[in-house]
Amino acid sequence: MTDRLDMTAVYLRPIWDSCDELIAKAKEGLDNVLFDTLIGTGVSGSIFVPLLARELGCYWAIARKSNDGSHSFNAIEGDIGERWVFVDDLVDSGATLKRVQRQVDNWTDRHNWETEFAGTYLYYEGMRRTGYFPANHIFGYASVDCECERCID
Ligand SMILES: [Zn+2]
Repeated sequence: MTDRLDMTAVYLRPIWDSCDELIAKAKEGLDNVLFDTLIGTGVSGSIFVPLLARELGCYWAIARKSNDGSHSFNAIEGDIGERWVFVDDLVDSGATLKRVQRQVDNWTDRHNWETEFAGTYLYYEGMRRTGYFPANHIFGYASVDCECERCID
């Protein structure tokens, strides 16, 4: 290959460098989860979520950030089925997750479509929190209502 200017951010690197591995892990992590749709957001989501959904044979959608300068009127692009998983590299405060949940709720209400949030899948191995988190898991502090391994420990 010819030389190039490398503008790939550190958090995007794993999508290029270990895509097959990330997909294999996601298949495993989501194995017992009932869902038919993956929803992501941002640049990393736009790259990874369609790839992953294609491998898993499910629907996918991307929730736009409000400031992405798009000419589209759609807050969400893609297909939303009956149960969706939020896919992201990491969740810190949970603000992005809440925004995406609001967008999905508004969007599906407007179109008279019922869909259920089935949890979060975090794929970025560099972070301490990876894997699947149930819908009632709360990011940012210990969640008493959640029965996932991380909250029980
Ligand atoms: Zn939990």
